[in-house]
Amino acid sequence: MSYQQHSFEHQRITEEPFYLPTGDEITVGLAAAANQLPLLLKGPTGCGKTRFMRYLAWRLQRPLITVSCHDDLSTADLVGRYLIRGNDTVWLDGPLTTAVRIGGICYLDEIVEARKDTTVVIHPLADDRRELPLEKRGELITAPAGFMLAVSYNPGYQSVLKDLKPSTRQRFVSLSFRYPAAAQESHIVAAEAGIDKALAGRLVRLGELTRGLKESGLPEGASTRLLIQAGQLIVSGIEVRTACMVGIVESLTDDPDLLEALREMVSAVF
Ligand code: ADP
Repeated sequence: MSYQQHSFEHQRITEEPFYLPTGDEITVGLAAAANQLPLLLKGPTGCGKTRFMRYLAWRLQRPLITVSCHDDLSTADLVGRYLIRGNDTVWLDGPLTTAVRIGGICYLDEIVEARKDTTVVIHPLADDRRELPLEKRGELITAPAGFMLAVSYNPGYQSVLKDLKPSTRQRFVSLSFRYPAAAQESHIVAAEAGIDKALAGRLVRLGELTRGLKESGLPEGASTRLLIQAGQLIVSGIEVRTACMVGIVESLTDDPDLLEALREMVSAVF
């Protein structure tokens, strides 16, 4: 994959994203930004972390650069690299460097996925130096006041935090996200999928049931994202149970026993 194709969006968010707060995360996020402190968002997949960052970026009126971390992500992917262009060698800033230069927010989504050596580069940015060394260029950039580092991770998986020095790790302001309470989640699912509250409420009920299957071996139940997805399928005319099967159940597991248990849950709710 060439550098230009890396998945990062660089944008100023002009319209208010729909975000339903589930606690005091907005006040805390704004306070962290005001104090130039990095943010650590913990929580299961699909529970609103990315949406929260979009909302925060909108409130702060700062560009948001999101990097979806993966196991091949190198330091150069974040920081930048020299590229050969014809007879010239040109330097291309990576998303992290761009965010630092423009005083934006860099959100490293699912940082656990990134290679361990990659995360080292965020240390001096996350502590009170707020510096980014571009070793290959012999350049040291000091982050302007607007720069904010945010990382997310799913504590259900192995923790990357042990790889951060305690001095760095303890600079983060940590926000724990969990699935919203039923009434809030119904509101979100209804709004995002464009379905009525009653149907959203049933999908949320199904979501809650799936989340109770942990002891039976399902590592993670249905996320808010999956419930929205099933709602969208229903809006497109897919029969409700089918929508639940293809939009939620089959995405959760391949295990025959768990599939059967989940199918029964769908039948119980719909
Ligand atoms: P994560 O980053 O935690 O994996 P997302 O932020 O992408 O999850 O959330 C998945 C979807 O769930 C979002 O696209 C949004 O539609 C919806 N969502 C979850 N929580 C909220 C919330 N509090 N307010 C509005 N939408 C939400």
